[in-house]
Amino acid sequence: MPSSDPRYSQSHAAFARAKTLMPGGVNSPARAFGAVGGEPLFIDRAEGQWLWDIDGNRYLDYIGSWGPMILGHGHPVVVEALAAAVLRGTSFGAPTEGESELAQLIVDCVPSVERVRLVNSGTEATMSAIRLARGYTGRPRIVKFAGNYHGHVDSLLVAAGSAAATLAVPNSPGVTPGTAADTIVLHYNDAEALEEAFANHGPEIAAVIFEPVCGNMGVVVPTPAFLEALTNLPRENGALLVCDEVMTGFRLALGGAQERLGLEPDLTTLGKIVGGGLPVGAYGGRSEIMAKVLPEGPVFQAGTLSGNPLATAAGCATLRTLRENPPYEKLEKLSARLEKGLVDAAKSAGAPHVVQRMGSMVTLFFHDSPVRSWSEAAECDTARFGRYFWEMLDRGVYLPCSQYEALFISAAHTEADIDATVAAAKEAIAASA
Ligand code: PMP
Repeated sequence: MPSSDPRYSQSHAAFARAKTLMPGGVNSPARAFGAVGGEPLFIDRAEGQWLWDIDGNRYLDYIGSWGPMILGHGHPVVVEALAAAVLRGTSFGAPTEGESELAQLIVDCVPSVERVRLVNSGTEATMSAIRLARGYTGRPRIVKFAGNYHGHVDSLLVAAGSAAATLAVPNSPGVTPGTAADTIVLHYNDAEALEEAFANHGPEIAAVIFEPVCGNMGVVVPTPAFLEALTNLPRENGALLVCDEVMTGFRLALGGAQERLGLEPDLTTLGKIVGGGLPVGAYGGRSEIMAKVLPEGPVFQAGTLSGNPLATAAGCATLRTLRENPPYEKLEKLSARLEKGLVDAAKSAGAPHVVQRMGSMVTLFFHDSPVRSWSEAAECDTARFGRYFWEMLDRGVYLPCSQYEALFISAAHTEADIDATVAAAKEAIAASA
């Protein structure tokens, strides 16, 4: 927002204070709205599909806490479960039946997961899954794809080195070249590069980690050839396939992208929806691999607040609701309506565009042809996206504040919300020229 706009004066003051107390005024960088050049809104409360900032402005929310709020904010079943849990105690550091209940729901829903360990974030899930893959295979190297984000795990905060398909280089100060050197970075949707990586380094590769539908460079859908390579090459070479479903889990289907795309990963990482809006992550997979985790096996992983009773209560309430009353057909319809509306809006404004979607994850790219990998995503008109973002905010629509994010539709959104969003987009895209 323009810092002088009186409509946002409370947020402006709150941000000024927060910046003196926290780096950039935030506890996670994307929230600062840096990618679109402005100041963030400070949120007061949320209900269903709506957010209110501390100035009292109301927005249609398409971030949903960056994914978890698939049922909408303050779903009564989740709120009741939390209220009941808080009265019984907020943390014990001892086993509870709620943990088994959440584990059971995960095992029942996610096809490839036979046993699971609960952690506190998506980052912890991927960090632990990678350690387990290395411990299980006795191999050092990990393959990842440019534009896929797996949390702020040192060995995954890397970019492709100049010798593509070989050694990665750190993309944050504080990540050592030694750590980065154990990661190989390839282009997403490049089956041949994966084949080459296994031909050159096969016996050293512990795992391939990937987003089954990418949300972290905007929505990028995998090609059938890429999925086939992911299915076959790790298996043929004794490496594990780690499917990072932190974003897609319980969103693209109850069983995540792996159900929708027919994937059979060795390990799966989960986060976001699995905690129903509280801090939860999980990693799981074949029982025989999970048996290597401490205390059953030797691979260390622990957590004071892991399996926290409030978090498991919110997670169980959310997953049970999704299972008993699946919103996926409704989400598909609403999302297809938004996709079509955004295409029409961009066309009528004469803007370069491609709208990419799977289920309720959608990205309007300011790019005139399909985006299949990070190198293509990087060609987008991000300045225009920034102008579009602020024009939408002005019209009461709260979008992810970067070209390289997916927007999320929740079960609380309605057709009327989608139509209002499309009407706003028609004006906003034209105004962003
Ligand atoms: N993996 C994926 C695919 C993600 O989208 C994210 C977060 N956006 C993470 C891992 C990290 O999760 P968290 O922010 O909970 O650490």
